[in-house]
Amino acid sequence: MKKIAFIGLGNMGLPMAVNLVSAGFEVYGYDLVPDAVKHFVDKGGKTCDAMQARVSQVDAVVSMLPTGKHVSELYLGKDGLLSHLPDNGMVIDCSTIEAAIARQVATAARGQGVAFIDAPVSGGIAGAKAGSLTFMVGGTEQHLEKARRCLDAMGQAIFHAGAPGAGQLAKICNNLLLAVLMTGTSEALKLGMDNGLDPAVLSDIMKKSSGGNWVLEKYNPVPGVMPAAPASHEYQGGFMTRLMAKDLSLALGAGAASKTPTPMGALANQLYRLHATDAGDSLDFSSIFTFYHRD
Ligand code: NAD
Repeated sequence: MKKIAFIGLGNMGLPMAVNLVSAGFEVYGYDLVPDAVKHFVDKGGKTCDAMQARVSQVDAVVSMLPTGKHVSELYLGKDGLLSHLPDNGMVIDCSTIEAAIARQVATAARGQGVAFIDAPVSGGIAGAKAGSLTFMVGGTEQHLEKARRCLDAMGQAIFHAGAPGAGQLAKICNNLLLAVLMTGTSEALKLGMDNGLDPAVLSDIMKKSSGGNWVLEKYNPVPGVMPAAPASHEYQGGFMTRLMAKDLSLALGAGAASKTPTPMGALANQLYRLHATDAGDSLDFSSIFTFYHRD
């Protein structure tokens, strides 16, 4: 695998595509936003106007798009990319979307002789920049092996979750837990602050105690506690509240389909929806702290 078309050069896609360039792949980047493409070209990437024509000459398409609707339109819609990929081509979709849509694209790809894996990621923008993402892969062993060198260039851990769609299911289970951890951690920190505790000291205590978790270690939601975290930068960048709300909806949808009760996910979903209408859905998801802590 040498030539790659990368679709979706947003917060995550741009650094991932740049890492592919650094690893020696010939990468053609596309985005609806011209500035995103310009940033990619500034960092050594290539582009061209006729995406469909270019796709017929690449070994793989990697996509990193907001929702299942975008992915479905890109591959299966009018003049969809699947029909332009060469035999033995490959699709690696890294977006977080419905498992059912991943399976639909996988089935259509099989019909065209194109390999497919769903490969959603964890690790956020920092992980995308550092090339240290975790990939959760759905697809056959053979297709995963075909994609491995490409995934290695963007991540550090690659897990084979199962058949097509299984990567998406693993991802939404993880993000349901992350949302619960973020809301719970925000609640605990606010309780401490309202009772006179310093949030930095309280965070240090909880990190070494039974409440310790990833949010406290890497992504503290209180401004000023962790200089590199989005909370210390007015909740800019990071993982947008609307994307977390989307992932929670995906998790609840999967729970409804399997008749699995998800009360914690349902509550987190309502908190994120209220917060999105209240404070703005493009703030980082750790801004849920401001839902508890209002000035
Ligand atoms: P983003 O909104 O920053 O980027 C998406 C990009 O896709 C945008 O630049 C948009 O213009 C482009 N786009 C949309 N439709 C397109 C099309 N048809 N053709 C070309 N470009 C198109 O979103 P993001 O934060 O990069 O997230 C992308 C995906 O990754 C989402 O599914 C999200 O849930 C998932 N994700 C995000 C993070 C994070 O921390 N941001 C972490 C893990 C997973």
